[in-house]
Amino acid sequence: MKLLKEKIEKEGQVLSDTVLKVDSFLNHQIDPLLMKEIGDEFAKRFSDQIITKVLTIESSGIAPSTFLGLTLGAPVVFARKRKSLTLTDNLYTSKVHSFTKNETNEISVSNKFITADDNVVIIDDFLANGEALKGLIDIANQAGATIVGAGIVIEKGFQEGGKILREQGLRIESLANIKSLANGKVEFYD
Ligand code: 5GP
Repeated sequence: MKLLKEKIEKEGQVLSDTVLKVDSFLNHQIDPLLMKEIGDEFAKRFSDQIITKVLTIESSGIAPSTFLGLTLGAPVVFARKRKSLTLTDNLYTSKVHSFTKNETNEISVSNKFITADDNVVIIDDFLANGEALKGLIDIANQAGATIVGAGIVIEKGFQEGGKILREQGLRIESLANIKSLANGKVEFYD
C-alpha cells in the first residue's frame, strides 16, 4: 500500500535492527485518513470472504480494525490485556508474549462476542514473531469461529511469524512488508 509505505518512510523511526516506531500515525497519535484507507484496503483484499466479525487486540489494533468494521458493516471485538472488574462474563483466554514489552499477558474475550456462527478476520498493527496472532487464533478457535485470515498493517518479514503462520495455512494480508531495518533504514519487500 503506497500511502502507508510513504508514511513509514517519512515518519517511522528505526529504534533498532528489529523495532520500528510509528507513534505519529498508528501507535500513539492516529492518522484517521490513513486508517480509513487501511480499512478500505483490508476490505478490498478480503472481499471474496463473508466476514461477520473483526477480531483484534488492544490497543493499537483497534484503530485499523474499526475502520475495517465500518467499511464492512461488521462489529469489532478487541481482546483485552488486563482483567477488568466489569469483565464478568465467561471468557476465552490465551497467553501472549509481547515482543516490544518482553512480558506475557493473558488476553481475554467474552464468549458473548465471538461464537461458532462467526466468520472472523483478525487484524493487528504489527506482525513480528506471530505471538499476538497466535493468541487471537487460539481465542477464535475456542469459540468455534471460522477464521477467514489475518490483516496486518506492518509485517516485519525478516522475523519468523508470517512464515510460520502461512505454513500452517493462515491467509495473511499485510499492507507493508519490511525486509530489513538494518543501519537505521527501512527496506521493503518489492
Ligand atoms: P508478535 O506478537 O508478532 O511477535 O508482535 C506483534 C505485536 O508486537 C504487535 O501487536 C505490536 O504491538 C508489537 N510489535 C512488534 N514489533 C513491533 C515494532 O517493530 N514496532 C511496534 N511499534 N510494535 C511492534
